[in-house]
Order: sequence, then C-alpha cells, then structure tokens
Amino acid sequence: MRFARGLLLLLAALAAPLAHALETVTLQLNWKHQFQFAGYYAAVEQGYYRDAGLDVRIVEVDTGQDPADAVLNGRAEYGVGASELVHLRGEGKPVVALAVVIQHSPLVVLARKGAGIETLHDLVGKRIMLMPHETELYAYFQREGLPIGLFRKFPHSFDTKELIDGRVDALSGYATDEPYLLLQAGLAFVRFSPQASGIDFYGDTLFTTEQHLRKHPAQVKAFREASLAGWRYAMAHPDEIAEIILKRYSARHGRGHLLFEAREMARLMQPELVQIGHMNPGRWQHIAQTYVDLGMLSAVPSLEGFLYDPNPPAMPRWVYGMALILAILITLVAYFVSVNRRLAHAMAERQKAFALLSQSEEKYRILAESSADVIWQLDEHMRYAYINPADEKLRGFSREEVIGKPVSAVLTPASLDVVKRINRQRREDEARGIRSGAVTFEVEEICKDGGTVWVEANSIPLRDKDGRIVGYFGISRDTSARRRHEQALSEANAMLQHQLDEIHRLQEELREQAVRDGLTNLFNRRYLDETLERELARAKREGYPLTLVMIDIDHFKRLNDTYGHQAGDIVLRELAALLWGNVRAEDVPCRYGGEEFLVMLPRMPLETALERAEAWRRTFQSTRVPFGEFHLETTFSCGLAAYPEHARTPDELLRCCDEALYQAKHRGRNRCQVFRPAHHAHEHR
Ligand code: GH3
Ligand code: MG
Ligand code: MG
Repeated sequence: MRFARGLLLLLAALAAPLAHALETVTLQLNWKHQFQFAGYYAAVEQGYYRDAGLDVRIVEVDTGQDPADAVLNGRAEYGVGASELVHLRGEGKPVVALAVVIQHSPLVVLARKGAGIETLHDLVGKRIMLMPHETELYAYFQREGLPIGLFRKFPHSFDTKELIDGRVDALSGYATDEPYLLLQAGLAFVRFSPQASGIDFYGDTLFTTEQHLRKHPAQVKAFREASLAGWRYAMAHPDEIAEIILKRYSARHGRGHLLFEAREMARLMQPELVQIGHMNPGRWQHIAQTYVDLGMLSAVPSLEGFLYDPNPPAMPRWVYGMALILAILITLVAYFVSVNRRLAHAMAERQKAFALLSQSEEKYRILAESSADVIWQLDEHMRYAYINPADEKLRGFSREEVIGKPVSAVLTPASLDVVKRINRQRREDEARGIRSGAVTFEVEEICKDGGTVWVEANSIPLRDKDGRIVGYFGISRDTSARRRHEQALSEANAMLQHQLDEIHRLQEELREQAVRDGLTNLFNRRYLDETLERELARAKREGYPLTLVMIDIDHFKRLNDTYGHQAGDIVLRELAALLWGNVRAEDVPCRYGGEEFLVMLPRMPLETALERAEAWRRTFQSTRVPFGEFHLETTFSCGLAAYPEHARTPDELLRCCDEALYQAKHRGRNRCQVFRPAHHAHEHR
C-alpha cells in the first residue's frame, strides 16, 4: 500500500514537467525595445505568460520591415500594430484586433526648426523619414491637401541623429519617445500631430490573425489576458519595468528616457479613466471612415471578425434573437403599466437633479475663476460669453472689455486664419456625420500694451440637445516663454554651427598649407619624408617596388643672375606644372629644396620610372618659358634609385638618389642617371 502510494507520487513528479510544457509563441513589436512595450515585459517578468502556459519571445522590428507582415506570414503569432490594422482589414488582410493598449495615437511628425519649417506645408520638397505602415500620417497629409509625392521620402533609420545632424528635415516618431532625445540634444523642433486635423486614431493595438484565432482560441484568450495583466502591472510600477528593460532587453534608452516615455504613455493611455485593452467599435468605424474619405480605402470594411470578442456567445445566435424579441414584448407591457407611476415620480427626481446640478456648476465656476490658465467660452457667433480673470493677467484687458467681443478682436490675422481653418474642418466633418471633438492649436493673441502673446489652446465644441454646435469651451496656456526660449536656442545653434563651419574650413586650410609648398603648390619636403616612410613600409609588406626620382635644374644660379630671381621663380613653377600634369594619382611630386624636386613613384619598377623621367627631361628641354620679351630655355638633371634594388630604408634610398644625381651632373648635366654603387662606377670608369 505504502509502496503503491510512493510509486504514484513518483509518476506524478515525472509527469509534472510534461503537463507544464510551455507553448512557444512570438510577439512581433512595431519598434525597438523600450517602455512602449512595458506591459509585455511585465507579463514575462511577473510570470503571467508562464501561468497561461506560454513561453513568449518578444521580437523587435527590423529596419524597413512592416511588423504586420511578420504576423500575416506566420513568422509571429501576435503583433503590435495601430490604426493601420483596420486599413489592412479593408484591404482584405485577415487581421484581428485583440486589445487597444494606447487609446490615443502618439504618432507625430517632428521637423527641424532651423530648416525654415513652421507649418506642415513647409515640408513640401523636404527630406522626411517615414515608415510604410504609418497610414495615419498619410491620412493627415492628405487631409491637409499635401499628396505624399510632394515630400522626399526616405526609409526610417530609427536614428534621431539624422535629424539632429541635418541629414533629414523631418521624421515620424512617437510623442512619447523622440522628443526626449531632441530636447536632450538641444535641437529646436516643431511637432505636427494628426490630431490638429481632427484625426484621433488608436495607438498600439495587440493583434493576431483569423487563422490563428480559429486554431487556438484558448491560447489567444490566455495570451490577451496575461498581456493586459502585464500592462496593468507595468503602469503601476514604471520604475521597476524601466530597470527590467535596461537589464534584459535594451540599454539603448537611459533610465530618464524610459521614465519620460512612461509618463507620456500614461497621458495617452489614461489607465485611470479607460480600462486598458478597451476597444470601441464606433471609433474603429470612424477610423475606417477617415481612410475612405481620404480615398485610401474604397469602403468601410465590416468589423465582424475584426474586433475580438473575449467572451463569445455560448449559444447559437438565433436563440439570442428569440430571447430579444420576447424581452422586448415583456418590456413593452411592463412599460405601459408603469408609465403613469413613473411620470409622477419623474417630477420629484427632476427637482432633486436640478439642485445637484447647480451645486456642481458652482464648483466648476470656482475652479474656473481661480485657474492660472485662461478659461473661456464662445457663443455660436464666436463671441466671448465667458472669460476667467487669468486673461486679464495675461493680456491686460478686463473681463468687461472682452465679453461680447468676437475672437477676431483678440487674435492676430494669421492666428485668426488658423481658427477659421479649424472651424471649416469641423463644419465639413459635421456635414459628413463625424462629430468633431477637442482640438489643440497654437495662436498669437493681442495684448492691451500693443504686444502679443502666444498660447496653446484646447477647444471643445458645446452642443445643444440635438447635437448642434452652439459654441466652444476651452483653455489657453501661455507658451510665449517657451517659444522665446526655442527661438533663442535655435539662433544660438545656428551661430554655433556657423562658427564650427568656419573653424572646420580654417582647419582644412591649415592642414593643406602644412603639406604644400607655397611657390609651386607641390607637396613639401616634410610631407614627402612622411609619406616615403609609410609607402616604403607598405612596399615591403606587400612586395612591390618603389622608385624615387631626384631632379635638379642645371645652372640655375646663372639663370637667376642673368634674368633675375623672378625669372627663376617662373621656371620653377613651369617645372612643377609639368610634373603635376604627368604623374599618376598615387605619385607624390614635391619641391624638396630651392631648385630641387623629388618624385616618389610607388609600385613603379625602375625601368618604367626611367622612361618616365626621360620623357619629363625631353619635354622640359624643349619648353620655352616666356618671360617678358625673352624665352627662357633650360634643362635639368635627375638621379633615380629604387627599392628593392638599391636600398631598404628611406635614408639610404634618398642618399642613393642624391648620389645618382651627382653622377648625372658630373657626366655633363641634362641627363637621367640610375644609381650605380661606387665599385660599379669605378669598374665602368
Ligand atoms: P648646378 O647645375 O650644379 O645645379 O648649378 P646650379 O647653379 O643650379 O646650382 P646651385 O646649387 O649653385 O644654385 C642653386 C640656386 O638656386 C641658388 C639659389 O639662389 C637659387 N634658388 C634657390 N631657391 C630659389 C627660389 O625659390 N627662387 C629662385 N629664383 N632661385 C632660387
Ligand atoms: Mg641644387
Ligand atoms: Mg642646380
């Protein structure tokens, strides 16, 4: 009995690892490891995936790769995408959205301020790095009337340095991420958000394919739940997850950068307001409609099958249909019975609600009156119906001076155009049945002292009970200081850049001067000595020859004495030009001393070098250099020595060359002489 129990325990222990064998799945990210994917790392770290029976590999996206492809082609079971998922669905791709993690897309275009870019339209003809799946940005450009062909599009390198160093003028990025690096680098930049055009798309969304969901419904459910649990943990413990990212995944971003990202993400996810993972079919519908309006899709796809239902109905649909009809019938009867009673009750309720409402209105009024930001309300004719005291502090006009005035009295003409454009867009949206929401924009307002002030305004439409816009409510915040700061920074940057350019130019010039001879512009002696040493070492290493030719003008002193120093200089320049014009790119012609020249010929055997030197000599001999009314004719002598025949060190080689030149002079000048060791010369003699 006891033995049998022992055996059972042993069997159970052996079977345990089998029962817990984990299924391996891959999650394809749409960017590099960073806080943007914190929830998935948390799900690994906290063991949520393991508890769900999963071993999850988290894979970064490669340059130029479309993350959705990896999932559609079966290289990964799950992926992180964004609003483009509904676009893919519209193109017939079987993607299934599992959960929206980031409620508002952080996708923005960031541009260099220094490149003269102020508005989105200034990007026309400029170099911009984009990813192929960032359809939301394409929609934004289109809505602004800018076909994508107007930009010079480059594949994304994920490297903000390209923008900082000015190799591109703009790039797409996440508001949660790149601005941090640009701020750190001190670059003045402008940010263009699709939200300015009323495009408020979903951000990161977890997805899979229809096939995978059909084959592994339980796995999908478990993966989704574990991922969302990971997200809840990550947003509650950002510091801890930042440490894990640094330690396990990537040290590409420092701790400060990761936490910046975490804060920005919390703003876009609103985890305390919206449940992480929540998807609103209406919003997906609206996103798809935007694609259709812009001609990027031919029709809004059916969302059936696109939106994952974590709790699918257990009974056939017709049962629900029948139940619904029955329920409606019962409700109707009950409704008529109770309607009288409810009418009486309603009167009392209404009075109570009224009291509550005026209480909460009072609270809001106190808040508005004491806010440091300017809070305002416009009527349907764009006239101020309310403004809080913060406006007087900011612009100097009293409340009485503002209320009843139109916005055109407050805004500069250019800013008025901005507001008109936003209103036009709102009207167009409303006409197409799209409810326009909050819009953020920057405008310049007029102050009482004649100056102006820049504010970032957030405006929300106010509607009557039929949904018609009857005014606007908004908050404005002073951004002048920030703008001045950015302006000063960009000017200082430009000045610094200019000075750096000048220093580089001077350095280049000095470097050039250091190796050149002033009169002939050939290389100087110092440069030749350096390169000879290097080239000879290389010739030895690689086993090729190297020849030196030393040239000295014949009876140059006499020429100077007869025609003057100036004539001598002209002849020196003439010989320099002849040498420059007749050497290969790798040769080094140099002025070695007064009227002495040296040419280094790497990889050239002695015989070929001798032919060369002979050709130079003949040309020089027959050259008639014009000087005033004279024509100067002169000759030169030269000596040649070569590695490996004559010498193995620079000094020896130069000595042999000098010796050969001496022999040429000795034998009557105007000739080329190859070095001959003394005993040879002796024998010959
Ligand atoms: P040889 O045929 O033996 O070489 O006779 P040479 O007169 O050429 O030789 P020498 O070395 O006696 O004279 C070289 C002259 O070159 C002396 C010097 O005044 C002149 N010289 C040196 N540098 C310059 C220069 O930059 N410009 C001019 N015009 N003359 C120079
Ligand atoms: Mg000389
Ligand atoms: Mg000479």
